[in-house]
Amino acid sequence: MTSSFSNLSLAEPLARAVAEMGYETMTPIQEQAIPVVLQGRDVMGAAQTGTGKTAAFALPLLQRMMKHENASTSPVRHPVRALVLLPTRELAVQVAEQVKFYAKYTNLNSAVVFGGMDMKPQTAELKKGVEVLVATPGRLLDHIEAKNAVLNQVEYVVLDEADRMLDIGFLPDLQRILSYLPKQRITLLFSATFSPEIKRLASSFLQDPVTIEVARSNATASTVEQHFYSVGADDKRRALHQILKARGIKQAFVFVNSKLGCARLARSLEREGLKTTALHGDKSQDERLKALDAFKKGEVDLLVCTDVAARGLDIKDVPAVFNFDVPFNAEDYVHRIGRTGRAGASGLAVSFAAASDQRLVADIEKLIKTKIELEPMEFEEDQPRIKEQGRINDGRRMYRDTGDQAPREADSSAPRERREPRERREYAPRQPAQRDPFFDKPYESTLPAEAQPAWEEAARSNSTRSSVSANIKPKKKVAALFKTAG
Ligand code: AMP
Repeated sequence: MTSSFSNLSLAEPLARAVAEMGYETMTPIQEQAIPVVLQGRDVMGAAQTGTGKTAAFALPLLQRMMKHENASTSPVRHPVRALVLLPTRELAVQVAEQVKFYAKYTNLNSAVVFGGMDMKPQTAELKKGVEVLVATPGRLLDHIEAKNAVLNQVEYVVLDEADRMLDIGFLPDLQRILSYLPKQRITLLFSATFSPEIKRLASSFLQDPVTIEVARSNATASTVEQHFYSVGADDKRRALHQILKARGIKQAFVFVNSKLGCARLARSLEREGLKTTALHGDKSQDERLKALDAFKKGEVDLLVCTDVAARGLDIKDVPAVFNFDVPFNAEDYVHRIGRTGRAGASGLAVSFAAASDQRLVADIEKLIKTKIELEPMEFEEDQPRIKEQGRINDGRRMYRDTGDQAPREADSSAPRERREPRERREYAPRQPAQRDPFFDKPYESTLPAEAQPAWEEAARSNSTRSSVSANIKPKKKVAALFKTAG
């Protein structure tokens, strides 16, 4: 039995915002975390983005802050009381949007600060007085040093995506920030995985925390069909083209391990006729947001990205994720493939493993506690070897169904398929006008609703012609990501 928000006795302005979002029942993390946070306990939560974790901490914190709510315009009446720290700009913006929405009918102010942007507008916001400050650590330190942010009245701290903050090397920044805060406070730590480092961080900054787990840590979604193909470095692009075609995949994330590799691969795929954009740490904030927007609107088919850059992407139900490189860190495998097969949608995760990746594959096997079978990649006969230079497909942007042709040498006269950008979907079922849906828009197919993805059809008819390889095994059910609420 899932419980309703009405059982929480939230203050009327918060309940109104929740009702406007159209949420009917609480998600498992909300069910477990909200009462605990309302009681004022520290929390160590294992939950990933996409589980409703933001509301799980934002709503009870706002509820607890309601006693300070006032309509004064004086900044001193609106000191920072809650600090939410996140590893990436995109994630910070996403969380801040949600917090602003939940607080819209209250007099509690919120703001977001992150690097890569002019500090001035952020400073102006801070000077007005904000009760909830959402920030990335580096930029927050800049504001603290510039005396734009005073944190001596902070009562609540949220360390969100804590594992990633440590991966990025934010630990020294985090320690400095926490040293500016009052010792007496409530700390909430959320992390997709609980590595020994995270446990150490938690034990030094949390007091007698309640542990909440809605997803088995290090679990991958049961709805994701996972394949590992043995492919040499020179054949990976050819393999990617073949699988996209055979499966009729409309959009996909392609993960690589380095910024340089990311830019290079995106350029090659673009030359080969696939509408591709790259997302890596060297891209400016503006470029990253534009790339993300283009993907969400369906103007781009492939998003080639590195782990750090992709961390903040709240794009759900992308049909496929490719690990062009096997990640160096096994936990990144879980994060990467978590982009597909979310919330019950089926997804495909394909990894290309070269002979030298054996150890990395073994690490993943150990983490997900599932035997990985390396499948041989069998290339179709009509699939030409992909050359580094020149476009090689027939001018189509992606392979829409199994009837499409394999990539061929360039035919510059072929008309390029045009696709209308999709309409932006509303953020929530009953979305008010002022909410920018940019960051929460789930993946949407551009195919007509009745059209079946070609690979579904292929799987059903068990057609060997259209399948990727005769060696594809039936779906591997891996541990469930979401526990059913009960
Ligand atoms: P989060 O994990 O916080 O990033 O949330 C992921 C998405 O779930 C966001 O688009 C939220 O608006 C949405 N969401 C959060 N709580 C609920 C709920 N109780 N019911 C339906 N959707 C929700």
